[in-house]
Amino acid sequence: MTDDYYVCPGCALLCDDIEVETEGKELTKIYSACMKGVARMKGGSNPLEYTVEQESADVDTAIEKAAAILRDAKNPLIFGHGNSSSEAQKKAIEIAKKTGAYIDDTSSFCQGPIIEAILQDKLKTCTLDDVRHKADVILFWGADPANSHPRHMSRYSYFPRGQERQRGWEEDRTLIAVDVRKSETAEIAGKTGFFQIPVKGDAEFIDALVSGLSSKVPKTSFNFDKKRLLELSNTLKKAKFGVICVGLGMVYSLEDLEPLFALMEKLNSVSNFHLIPMVGQYNMRGFNQNLFEETGYINRVKFDSETGEAKHGAEYSVVEALKEKAVDAALIIGSDPLSSLPLSVARYLANIPLIDIDPCQNLTSTKANVTIPCALGGIGSGGTAVRMDGVEIELKQIVETDKLSDEEVLTRIMEAI
Ligand code: SF4
Repeated sequence: MTDDYYVCPGCALLCDDIEVETEGKELTKIYSACMKGVARMKGGSNPLEYTVEQESADVDTAIEKAAAILRDAKNPLIFGHGNSSSEAQKKAIEIAKKTGAYIDDTSSFCQGPIIEAILQDKLKTCTLDDVRHKADVILFWGADPANSHPRHMSRYSYFPRGQERQRGWEEDRTLIAVDVRKSETAEIAGKTGFFQIPVKGDAEFIDALVSGLSSKVPKTSFNFDKKRLLELSNTLKKAKFGVICVGLGMVYSLEDLEPLFALMEKLNSVSNFHLIPMVGQYNMRGFNQNLFEETGYINRVKFDSETGEAKHGAEYSVVEALKEKAVDAALIIGSDPLSSLPLSVARYLANIPLIDIDPCQNLTSTKANVTIPCALGGIGSGGTAVRMDGVEIELKQIVETDKLSDEEVLTRIMEAI
């Protein structure tokens, strides 16, 4: 076993206590990671090859062709980023600036507004280490970490002992799950801790909770048990250090963040509450922060190739840009939009000049005009990434590989442009 601890890039929890055994360039054993992390660290079984127009190519030809596509495009799109190091993301932003590209990531249709509000200091947040050491009330809302972030509860939020939580989950912590279904996390929260709400019922439940926190009789159109709602309000009021971990269930249900702002404001007038977004991809938050530092926006940006000015708006989102057929080429990094985007826009994407940089084959790579393999971040290449709570984590390279890192690929494309 190696003496060092490594970081798992399986999700934005970025567990940094991973021990490994290696044989040459092979990662043979992985300790401490969850099953999801082990699968991610071992990498896919279908590594990507260098190709140009579906024919095998060498690295120089593939890089030159990728640069030519971006050089010839009037409005290229650069998309992906959530599974790349911060260094690669900064390089992608540089290319977007130089080529007048649209640049966006999946936060555009998931946790983006929450991360933006945190970066703009509109939502009170804390680190996962604060949660481990201090949190006594942990509320998962529209999130199921038992499946999405399997070590969240054991490393940080519920089960561990902390400096101010020496008696752990048995006596010192209260777990609450608000969800539309009885998830595995809800099972752990038990009968008293699980609050089932109807689909799209989040805003109304928040409203009722704010009433309860204001000592008014809470009302919901779905006739939620008032006594239970008042008990929940009391539990939240009594919290010394509370945290709401917001998942996609809540994000997709709310039309805007106003109800969440109202809840956090109320909670912090009667108690002490923080919020952490349950970010999925290991460095999605890093992309948001890096783009925010460069432009003041976290996603949905279009650069002006002459002035370098960044424009921002819904029309610059990946979905809108493709729907409007506003982009004429695309560079995809560590993502598979042909599998995840709506069919109508994915079809257009499949028919424009497409460059795919990824460690493994996927549907997007099968349609790409140029494919460029890269090392798996955190395994075959190092760098930095930003955990879901905003803490920067160093990714150490574990094994040697012949492949370039995504940062090196993008640097070479930038030079060739
Ligand atoms: S919880 Fe996430 S970061 Fe931690 S080991 Fe599992 S997949 Fe990896």
